[in-house]
Amino acid sequence: MKIAVLPGDGIGTEIVAEAVKVLNVLELKLEMETALVGGAAYEAYGHPLPEATLKLAKEADAVLFGAVGDWKYDKLDRPLRPEQAILGLRKNLGLFANLRPAICYEQLVGASSLKPELISGLDILIIRELTGDIYFGQPRGRRIASDGLFPGTEEAFDTMRYSRPEIERIAHVAFQAARKRSKRVTSVDKANVLETFQLWKDVVTEVGTQYPDVALDHMYVDNAAMQLVRDPKKFDVVVTGNMFGDILSDEASMLTGSIGMLPSASLNASKQGLYEPSHGSAPDIAGKGIANPLATILSAAMMLRFSLNQEAAAQRIEAAVKTVLAQGLRTADIFSPGTTRVSTLEMGAAVVRAL
Ligand code: NAD
Repeated sequence: MKIAVLPGDGIGTEIVAEAVKVLNVLELKLEMETALVGGAAYEAYGHPLPEATLKLAKEADAVLFGAVGDWKYDKLDRPLRPEQAILGLRKNLGLFANLRPAICYEQLVGASSLKPELISGLDILIIRELTGDIYFGQPRGRRIASDGLFPGTEEAFDTMRYSRPEIERIAHVAFQAARKRSKRVTSVDKANVLETFQLWKDVVTEVGTQYPDVALDHMYVDNAAMQLVRDPKKFDVVVTGNMFGDILSDEASMLTGSIGMLPSASLNASKQGLYEPSHGSAPDIAGKGIANPLATILSAAMMLRFSLNQEAAAQRIEAAVKTVLAQGLRTADIFSPGTTRVSTLEMGAAVVRAL
């Protein structure tokens, strides 16, 4: 099992180092190779996703990714900015399915902005289509309007677009994930207004007939955004398009109140995947040794589950994370009075000990 380890920038290097320590104690036959990505790669090679890094990622069974970006690169031309490395990896590896669990750990219920009873026991999975939709549809651009409300003025336009096979494959991912959980899928669309999402709804419904053991319901995106804060526990697996998924997955993940706790997986058709924490490179705390490594450690668990077929090892890591939380250990982002504040290194070491 070959893993490309791409720590990236900012806290990326600190948190990935802890995840690698955790993987190393599992006594699995893992071959890990590290490469530069993002701003670090730009500094060394003049490009955020150098050929060698892309080659390593393509040849690996999975990519363990930290985070990229720093404010100091904001003035670079867009193709050279660190964040382009993620888009390049998604495109080149065909990573069309983004899986983001939002789990509320019992010990962290108080960290949420919602009432404890609304989120205690929360465990939902948002599945976002990642390579289609209005983000990639053509044509797009700017021009002087020849018609519409204000002809002769500047306008901009993007194209929302999904093909049947694109919707089919993400629907299969959702139904298969639901089979391993409580067998419910909510498909989120805007079929009342958008033709693209009428096709989405039709195709998801058709694919659903192949999974008679999974209950499917449909919800408009505006309602879904509301229900996620009103009664999030009513959801199990939520599947949606790229743009709605972008927004809803951030909303859902923040329900748990702890950005340092949330892993993610991006998968392609052959289950090759990129695994990364949901947060960014946190330049404000980089180098201070206080970043929470748990989202990255939990991303490594997802990697074992989805790309490396090591479910037992994945569960061991998740149990170890629960153990350290139960021991009262907290990095600064999840600290509360009565718990013990620990550094990035100490948190990683505690998970290793628990394993
Ligand atoms: P961010 O997620 O990096 O940070 C937001 C806030 O959360 C900061 O206060 C940070 O200190 C805190 N935080 C984040 N992760 C933490 C952790 N593990 N432990 C403790 N605290 C944590 O978002 P931002 O500040 O908007 O962006 C910073 C940079 O990261 C930008 O360059 C942005 O483009 C990039 N970014 C990268 C990714 C990615 O690599 N996938 C995702 C989002 C943002």
